Amino acid sequence: MSKLVSNYEVLNKSLECNEISKDEAYQIYQELQKNPSEIYRTAQILRNQNKGKTVTYSRKVFFNLVNLCRDTCSYCTYKSEPDQSKLSMMSKQDISNLAKIGKKYRCTEALFVTGERPEQKYQEARSWLKENGFGSTAEYLVHASEISLKEGLFPHTNAGNLTKSEMNELKKTNVSLGLMLENSSERLSGKDMPHQFAPSKNPKARLRVLEDAGELGIPMTTGILIGIGETAFEIIDSIYAIKKIHEKFGHIQEIILQNFQPKIDTKMKSFPSAEQVYFKSMVALARIIMPTMNIQIPPNLSPDSYADFLSMGINDWGGISPVTPDYVNPEFSWPSIDTVEKNSSNAGFELKARLPVYPEFISFVHPHLRERILEITDAIGLVKEEYLI
Ligand code: SF4
Repeated sequence: MSKLVSNYEVLNKSLECNEISKDEAYQIYQELQKNPSEIYRTAQILRNQNKGKTVTYSRKVFFNLVNLCRDTCSYCTYKSEPDQSKLSMMSKQDISNLAKIGKKYRCTEALFVTGERPEQKYQEARSWLKENGFGSTAEYLVHASEISLKEGLFPHTNAGNLTKSEMNELKKTNVSLGLMLENSSERLSGKDMPHQFAPSKNPKARLRVLEDAGELGIPMTTGILIGIGETAFEIIDSIYAIKKIHEKFGHIQEIILQNFQPKIDTKMKSFPSAEQVYFKSMVALARIIMPTMNIQIPPNLSPDSYADFLSMGINDWGGISPVTPDYVNPEFSWPSIDTVEKNSSNAGFELKARLPVYPEFISFVHPHLRERILEITDAIGLVKEEYLI
């Protein structure tokens, strides 16, 4: 890696709306260790230039369809075994009932989450699906999405590596889909690494799904898990891997930067969480590498640093539910929407509700969904204030 130009010139290049190369991003990171202030300032200017003084969130209901998963990641407490209490598949009636509650609370998103293809590993899942008339979890997700849409919530499904034909079916009801890349480094799938026993986390497989979604024109949420044993350079590589796919298809609607938090009962329980300074640096770098991208961090995992992250480059707090817990991180409750609004306002930003599809991606969704979206969105494509009251 050669030092191409001075760090000052690289930062100016990005402020003048010029792309920076991966080598230049590496260089910025190295400089960050010595002198972070200029880099943070650049990220702040780019954030305000491209996203103004608004920060968004999606008012959601978390439908935890089933915790079974054929894979095992070393940090995960979401996955459970059939003999544990979290087994049961959410029934159609449960979905309908919860959607009705969500509607009462003026939620607009139905987030559907499952483990990776549970039916491939567990007889219990196969039997349940068969008894209920479904050949796979993905088929059930299509049906579950139809139920939530009928009740007035817009589905966004995050169910691991879906096939292209499964995504094509979900596209009829889902306004966007989600798949965390986690990291583009295959090293993290090696021996004693967090994804050793999670073949679905192989970056080639994940990037393939993101590409398939691009070919189908589906708005995608993806992201990077920070602090699981990667290097900063591997995070930069991951941002560039996402950037490359987005440049080809233009369908990546947001990048979530999620800070790892160790959880009891996992292999990584003693692994330290990502240091705040490191995490903030990655947020700033993501903004500098992709100045116009929507960048999100979950507020429940970094509750004390609203102002820092807003000024460092984020423009979204992700899905927040007034109804259900964060089943992936149940140890970390979501703050109330009022708290997020107050803290955002104290930092000089106005909190606005968006749908699970960002305004600039509404044109991607199925025409019959677009009609329904227009009923509850304003001229910008955000949720009308009166709908939330
Ligand atoms: S693939 Fe997802 S649900 Fe399965 S073990 Fe990994 S993090 Fe948990």
